Amino acid sequence: VWKNCLSFIEDNISNQAYKTWFEPIEAVNLTENSLSIKVPSKFFYEWLEEHYVELLKSALTKELGKGAKLVYSIKMENTQGKKKSHTESIPSTQRSNVSAQSVEFKSSQKNPEFKNPFVIPGVRNLKIDSQLNSNYGFESFIEGDANRLARSASLAVSNKPGGTSFNPLLIFGGVGLGKTHLAHAIGLEVKEKFPDKTVLYISAEKFTQQHIESVRKNNRNDFIHFYQIIDVLIVDDIQLLSGKKGTQDVFFHIFNHLHQNGKQVILTSDKAPVDMQEIENRLLSRFKWGLSAELMSPDYQTRLSIIENKLYRDGVEMPEDVIHYLAENIKSNIRELEGAIISLIAHSSFSRTEVSIDLAQQIVKNYVKKTSQQISIDRIQQVVSEYFQLDLELIQSKTRKRNIVQARQLAMSFSKRLTNNSLTSIGKQIGKRDHATVLHACKTVDNLKLTNKEFKKFYDDIDRKLKET
Ligand code: ADP
Ligand code: MG
Repeated sequence: VWKNCLSFIEDNISNQAYKTWFEPIEAVNLTENSLSIKVPSKFFYEWLEEHYVELLKSALTKELGKGAKLVYSIKMENTQGKKKSHTESIPSTQRSNVSAQSVEFKSSQKNPEFKNPFVIPGVRNLKIDSQLNSNYGFESFIEGDANRLARSASLAVSNKPGGTSFNPLLIFGGVGLGKTHLAHAIGLEVKEKFPDKTVLYISAEKFTQQHIESVRKNNRNDFIHFYQIIDVLIVDDIQLLSGKKGTQDVFFHIFNHLHQNGKQVILTSDKAPVDMQEIENRLLSRFKWGLSAELMSPDYQTRLSIIENKLYRDGVEMPEDVIHYLAENIKSNIRELEGAIISLIAHSSFSRTEVSIDLAQQIVKNYVKKTSQQISIDRIQQVVSEYFQLDLELIQSKTRKRNIVQARQLAMSFSKRLTNNSLTSIGKQIGKRDHATVLHACKTVDNLKLTNKEFKKFYDDIDRKLKET
């Protein structure tokens, strides 16, 4: 029975995937409607469950009929020395989000609406769950000056994955500005245009966990192999690899393999490559091979469109003045903008009152209090120049007078700490300096804070003032 299953599986996935994931499996026992198989490790079991559960189901249902069961056991693990069993009832699985019909081999073939299958029967290719969120398509991503470059680069990559000079494509920018959304949009678009391509979205955090687990379970090679057969790899929040040397090494390996084979890599980060710390140089230099596109805070018009679009999609109406109020007051984080809208709607439906500007004010106040991200570089420069009673222009100027340099450095350091801007963008806005100058300013401020009492007082006063506003 297992042999038949294997040959069915072999016909449905790439040779490499088959060798990696199915050859090592041993069939151990067969009863009327259940087959027991032994897999090398828990990691292995989890991969099978995550990526091949549908394929296994189809194969087994074909052999043993509906109600067929698969029982996994895991070979002795060095750490625990115990044998674990997992039973999976074939027709019903809570873990996968595939519709019930897909369980049956034939119906999945017939049903054209069958979305995001683990496996498409008959296509000789590896099909894995791409982990994409279908809400994050290009159609729901509002274009504006702040995201135009990143968006059009993303579209270009989707049209020709691996075939542009944007490889890797690195999308970077502050929290809540749409990096994850764009990354998913690329994946979704590729799948739409090139259904045979294997796309995988993964957060750097999850990638790290998987890697650590694979080392623990002694199957790091399986882990690497899996990633090497992907056509379009999207790794979100790559800055989280900072300081994780082992994971960086493995990613370096995978990256090189994919890149050499013309596969597309898409990365996102909350920092520009120059600002990433504790990432190996050889990786950083590769990040810069392709295109780095920054997502900036959206302008007023874009914020308006985002709100209107969101309301439209949710079928909710809101008075014009409230919409304008939100767009004016929540500036540097689209996630917060959406959060405020949701909370407004919730409040008003709970208290059965119309959404009013008063309510909007209350809610925005809560949002502003909770996060420091509302503070802008302009605001910081203003507070600093008022505090030292200097002209704003002096801070912006090239003057190297000591007190002005110090004020400028403070403004830079606060901008780094309290806003989402990159060093590069802070430099641009504070007197057209480069990122190295800003980095130096941050370090100087941190030092002076510790060694100079007077300076520490300046720092704390300004900090307080900024938080009052
Ligand atoms: P990041 O990953 O940069 O922190 P996300 O991609 O998670 O940000 O975006 C935060 C929220 O804002 C998401 O719900 C996303 O859909 C929304 N969003 C971001 N940019 C846009 C945009 N240009 N148009 C519409 N919605 C957006
Ligand atoms: Mg994100």
